[in-house]
Amino acid sequence: MRVKELAAGRRLSTESSPYGTAKAILDGVLVPTVGALSCRVTSKFPYNWKLPTPLQFCLEFKEKQAFQRAPLRWGRNLIMQRMAKFALVCLIVCAGLLVWADGGAGGGSKGPSVRLPGAAFAALETINPEHIRWHVRFLSHDLLEGRGTGQRGGDVAAEYIATQFAEYGLKPAGDHGTYMQRVPLVGITTLPETRFSLVPKQGETMNLKLLDEYVAYDQTQRTESDVDADIIFVGYGIEAPEYNWDDYKGVDVRGKVLLMLVNEPPSDDPKFFKGKALTYYGRWTYKYEEGLRKGAAGVILIHQSEMASYPWEVVRNSNSGEKSFLKLEGPALKVASWIHLDAATRLASASGMNLDKMIQAAQSRDFHPVSLGARLKAHMVSKVRNFESNNVLAVLPGTDRRVSDEAVMYTAHWDHFGIRPDMPGDNIFNGADDNATGCGILLEVARAFGTGAAKPRRSILFAAVTAEEQGLLGSEYLGKHLPFSSGKISLDLNYDDVKPLGAPEEVQVAGAERTTFYPVVEAMAKDFRLAIRPDARPEAGHFYRSDHFSLARVGVPSFSINEGTKFKGHPDSWGVEQEREYVDKHYHQPSDEYHPEMDFVGDAAMARFGFALGWEAASLTKLVGWQKGDEFEAARVKSQQ
Ligand SMILES: [Zn+2]
Repeated sequence: MRVKELAAGRRLSTESSPYGTAKAILDGVLVPTVGALSCRVTSKFPYNWKLPTPLQFCLEFKEKQAFQRAPLRWGRNLIMQRMAKFALVCLIVCAGLLVWADGGAGGGSKGPSVRLPGAAFAALETINPEHIRWHVRFLSHDLLEGRGTGQRGGDVAAEYIATQFAEYGLKPAGDHGTYMQRVPLVGITTLPETRFSLVPKQGETMNLKLLDEYVAYDQTQRTESDVDADIIFVGYGIEAPEYNWDDYKGVDVRGKVLLMLVNEPPSDDPKFFKGKALTYYGRWTYKYEEGLRKGAAGVILIHQSEMASYPWEVVRNSNSGEKSFLKLEGPALKVASWIHLDAATRLASASGMNLDKMIQAAQSRDFHPVSLGARLKAHMVSKVRNFESNNVLAVLPGTDRRVSDEAVMYTAHWDHFGIRPDMPGDNIFNGADDNATGCGILLEVARAFGTGAAKPRRSILFAAVTAEEQGLLGSEYLGKHLPFSSGKISLDLNYDDVKPLGAPEEVQVAGAERTTFYPVVEAMAKDFRLAIRPDARPEAGHFYRSDHFSLARVGVPSFSINEGTKFKGHPDSWGVEQEREYVDKHYHQPSDEYHPEMDFVGDAAMARFGFALGWEAASLTKLVGWQKGDEFEAARVKSQQ
């Protein structure tokens, strides 16, 4: 009963009582107490919350407070009663100091201590791994047909999520008072009639084989386009003044086809393209965008597993069948393509060049675009289908009218690859890990906020977005059509592919260190007994590969929350092995399926961690920002003018 009272966040009377002085520390005392106690009473709680010594003081305090209401039983006269009150306040102050001292000694972090109100902790505590399991089980069921964007199964998934939001009492934040935000899309299928030929200076024309040797889309969204243009090798295809790097050197590439490398010049210098970490310049989306800005007719990316950080199968699977694009609002590339490394090697040698040497040359600042003397002759034939999909948006309005037009948001994409009717065998891309898990977490966080006894000051926006697998399209659209002004969104926390592997000992928050919120993240991680695992492979550019990036582009401080690689009861290498096996065998494959033996304790841990962070961000005096000099700082400043 006592636990319940504490958890319900019943505040001790403070304002006009002698206990006012203790108010500042009450949350600090109560919160870990509730957590610690819960740890003992519910075995599901996945953390080793410390049982702080002040616990007893708190409980005593509650008891004595009750006595106080019957002063005759409490003291014989007023002086004694006042003395008792004074002693009690002293006890509480000491208790608070003890908790803080204890926390401070633990990790040496100077970050703020976490002081969520009791009600927030009570809500956090209701987050249940089994709830997440149920969502994942349903969303990744064969009946949902792989949740393809614009496919029936995807629409069912969106409807399911909207229904859950409604059940949690959240307000619709989509179009016309609904939970759905319509995202106008165009589905393009590159048809087998497409011809994609590399015509070198000498020797035979190379007619590349779709999917085996190349993938390509006509981004003009027309049914037929022809390209017959010179191929220019532009190295990495990057123009980055801040790193004093320009692969184009002012060469006019209008109407040409640009052959380029993925990734960016290798470096260990953190001041040069952030060292080993990948910047946006290294992403294929940037390459297409930059090529288009330069007026090129087409872009051909050379796939190399190491540079791309994934094998050809991933390129092939992500670029076969129908692919979606946001409905066009300007010029576009006629050919946006990848070719297999072997094809690029053959093209280079047929052009009297050596691909290895070309790659080498591209690593120099003095690199200059090279014409291969070869042409791309492409006849792009596409099936073009206009359709729409939906982002599912819900809001929990903030309780403080002065800041309720400001928000903290959570995102997770609901889409996956749908069904591939042409594929033999199992052709349903169930996407259990990717990203039914993220949706399950988003829903569980939404439920905790929506049904909790207390609500935060700022609004909380929940967005289950579509078309992530098609290039972050749903979130891109959302970023351009936010229900709150982007400058008033304090933070976006994203969940993508949070594997059900059991209790984590680490958390990954890559990108958080780039925001002003990082001290809170550090303190929270410490309270949750989670070590912050630095991005194991910053060179893979995970930051640019999920939906939080779409929000970052419009200035919103944002990052994904995920587990690290250390899990309870396993050696350190186990998590790494699990990750490797997943990438090799299941990532973006039909075998990414739900299994009953999956353990969602880690997903619940990530949900709780994110819930606490979101609550904190929604309560801070200031909005979160990007660190000075960060690549997204300019967008943030612009959005807040
Ligand atoms: Zn994903």
